[in-house]
Amino acid sequence: MSDVLAITEHRRGELRDVSFELVTAGSDLVGETGGDLHLAVIGGDVDAFADELALDGVDTIHTVPEGDEFNHDVYVQAIAALYEELDPTYVLMGNTVNGLDYAPAVAEQLDIPLVTDAIGLQNDGNLVVTREMYASKVESTVEVDADHAAVTIRSAEWEPTEAAGEPAVEAFDFELDESRVRSRVTGFEEVGGGDVDISDADVLVSVGRGIEEEENLELVQNLADALGATLSSSRPIVDNGWLPKDRQVGQSGKVVTPKVYLAIGISGAVQHVAGMKGAETIIAVNTDPDAPIFDIADYGIVGDLFDVVPELIEQFE
Ligand code: FAD
Repeated sequence: MSDVLAITEHRRGELRDVSFELVTAGSDLVGETGGDLHLAVIGGDVDAFADELALDGVDTIHTVPEGDEFNHDVYVQAIAALYEELDPTYVLMGNTVNGLDYAPAVAEQLDIPLVTDAIGLQNDGNLVVTREMYASKVESTVEVDADHAAVTIRSAEWEPTEAAGEPAVEAFDFELDESRVRSRVTGFEEVGGGDVDISDADVLVSVGRGIEEEENLELVQNLADALGATLSSSRPIVDNGWLPKDRQVGQSGKVVTPKVYLAIGISGAVQHVAGMKGAETIIAVNTDPDAPIFDIADYGIVGDLFDVVPELIEQFE
């Protein structure tokens, strides 16, 4: 029997998708080991979050009403206290900006091994974690030869759990050591005026090197406008300085999981695909019928984007 403690995430009053993916990863794991799945909700409107997280497979939700937003020191203290109380075999966290901030400190404090960026988890006596290596060209398996372990899971690798459940909700009796809280969030200023977060978009129009010139970006922006979509891109567009870094999809950009992802003039390099393969429907426009993007696209148009995109805009308008 191995219990799992999964640490949920929220931002600006909303649970992040990875929280629901952690439920799936955690309940799959306890399904194999026969233990309980505990969720931690730290900070924010913990009661509302607990309601949302009352999902199938969750045994207990522990709420820690400390602060509105993520705080490294609060998270590390709260997780360490929960770990001491519950003695879970595994601690699961998101391989997110926040998760990668606190997970190493948690592992260090608890003196347990940490495996980051998991894309698969199994328990065959020991925990076996699947990871990608060498820019996603190779999959490796890491067998954790230890009684306890911490793991961060990659976004969009597990389906989010949606089915309702009836977990117990318990306010965790936790006393924060204020003297060990070294920073406080005093306010937020969103990059780019706060209107764009490609990881939250339902529809993304993503543009690649096939667009050729910066002035041609207007064409794909018009397509995004016609669809009510958000514009994102592959890395060369960002490297050229044509779009800001927060629009980049991929291994060194953002992981996105929109309902629809239109890849316009993007070849489908592994580093790009690593960031968008979780999209529900992928539509690709490319002149090259052998472009790797067509291997993962649900719909493909082999054609010149300068012909296809104006036609799409006309149709959508
Ligand atoms: P290309 O590969 O040059 O593809 C352009 C495509 O456009 C081609 O398939 C071509 O057939 C098509 N095309 C050309 N003209 C037209 C036209 N008129 N109409 C329609 N189609 C046309 N890349 C990312 O995107 N995100 C990342 O986060 C990322 N991280 C990386 C991290 C590392 C460590 C490394 C080494 C690389 C990374 N890359 C990343 C780069 C990645 O390897 C590719 O170089 C990049 O994704 C290619 O971008 P692209 O598809 O826009 O360009």
